[in-house]
Amino acid sequence: MSEEQVLIFDTTLRDGEQSPGASMNLEEKLEVARMLETLGVDVIEAGFPVASPDDFAAVQAIARQTQRARVCALARSLKGDIDRAAAAVAPAGERARLHVFLATSPIHRQYKLDKAKPEIVRQAAEAVAYARTLCADVEFSCEDASRTEPEFLAEVVEAAIRAGARTVNIPDTVGYAYPSDYAELIAYLRRSVPNIGEAVISVHCHNDLGLAVANSLAAVRAGARQVECTINGIGERAGNCALEEVVMAMRVRRDQFPGLFTRVDSTKLYAASRLVQSITGLPLQRNKAIVGDNAFAHESGIHQHGVMKHRACYEIMTPQSVGFPDTSFVLGKHSGRAALAKRYEELGLRIAEGDLDRLFAAFKALADRKKEIYDGDLIALFEEVVRGRTVTAWRLEYLHTSAGTGAVATATVRLARGEAVHTDAAIGDGPVDAAISAINRITGVQGTVEDYRLRSITRGGDAQGEVSIRARINGRLVGGKGLSTDIVLASALAWLDAVNRAGATAAAAAGGTPP
Ligand code: MN
Repeated sequence: MSEEQVLIFDTTLRDGEQSPGASMNLEEKLEVARMLETLGVDVIEAGFPVASPDDFAAVQAIARQTQRARVCALARSLKGDIDRAAAAVAPAGERARLHVFLATSPIHRQYKLDKAKPEIVRQAAEAVAYARTLCADVEFSCEDASRTEPEFLAEVVEAAIRAGARTVNIPDTVGYAYPSDYAELIAYLRRSVPNIGEAVISVHCHNDLGLAVANSLAAVRAGARQVECTINGIGERAGNCALEEVVMAMRVRRDQFPGLFTRVDSTKLYAASRLVQSITGLPLQRNKAIVGDNAFAHESGIHQHGVMKHRACYEIMTPQSVGFPDTSFVLGKHSGRAALAKRYEELGLRIAEGDLDRLFAAFKALADRKKEIYDGDLIALFEEVVRGRTVTAWRLEYLHTSAGTGAVATATVRLARGEAVHTDAAIGDGPVDAAISAINRITGVQGTVEDYRLRSITRGGDAQGEVSIRARINGRLVGGKGLSTDIVLASALAWLDAVNRAGATAAAAAGGTPP
């Protein structure tokens, strides 16, 4: 049997970025795009250029700086949108794709568009035909396809293909689909649309009922050959189909997908997941499939005993197959630069020339405080050092807190920005609260902590603590992270990261809510 590829279309930078508080700056988007290429995704949906000048610039930079993946820009079925999208992806040359969408369901036709069926068909065909005059690779999406009358959906799909669409996407925009029905819808389109063989059928599933991955897999079995997904399943509302889950389900249950494969290098999944968590400030639940902290942890005695006898007793895939960090001791204070660089390479993290010095210095400083350095520590250090480079605003120079039973918690903080240095002190309800108040006094921000999480990167009393904060700062929802063996310091760093990010994203305008 000949092997057939299922294309992986990643929309972390477009739909994923529509998660509340997940906005990324240009440098961060480029970092994610580089990781997506390392991972081996086929298409990177880089943004919605008409939404804001920042989105346009990000799509353009990604189109310019990637090498292998197709780069896709989203547009409504409007000439102005399509022109902006085409200009933004142009630097990708032959790798450029335009993604044009129009809603087709009765509820969208009536309430959102106020258009009858014939107008929808005409507008879709005209938009695709116009996009084709600017770009050879055009994808068309029938927004809210899963709630569209199948006969009408078939009519729109046929018209879009006739107008030149090479990919037709059948999104479950609202996460309403059910696997068997959704598979039947794909099979129906394959039976009923006469020119369906001229286009790739794509699916784009949302996770409102927790069925995004199941629906995507059912559609692949029914003939879809492109899956739209995001790292960690981030996205609008409950999120999108999780890339790592769909890739590993197809790999581990090859028996269900005979002759089908994806080009994703699964050993890079963990690093990609960590990078997106770090950049967006959206942490995962520990029991998240494939990449959660507990994904390969065996707790009960019976399970541990079984795994020790033979791993396959309770493991359907190996931690190595998804690049899960080795929990055995790897490096210590006597390890050299070469060993550090080699381990980062093995973890799939690309180190720029100038960053190795900074990483090595940070590694040595950590090794003085902590005897054993695990992969988890190295990944966290990488995020801190390499990401720290992109944050140019406030730096924490000094923190002193005092707290305890019967005492009023106080914090003294010194922050630097450029050449200027500011020191202030505050009291609070515990040392973290006091440190945050002192930072706010210096930076002049007003904010509240909406969510606070502390996680231990590795085991042991000297383990590094990673604090993830979701904060509302000056009315904007942002994430921040901090890392230290001292959890009060980690908390202050996380708050300061959020303050800096709120500043960095202040100019970003909000876009619409596309498929
Ligand atoms: Mn979507």
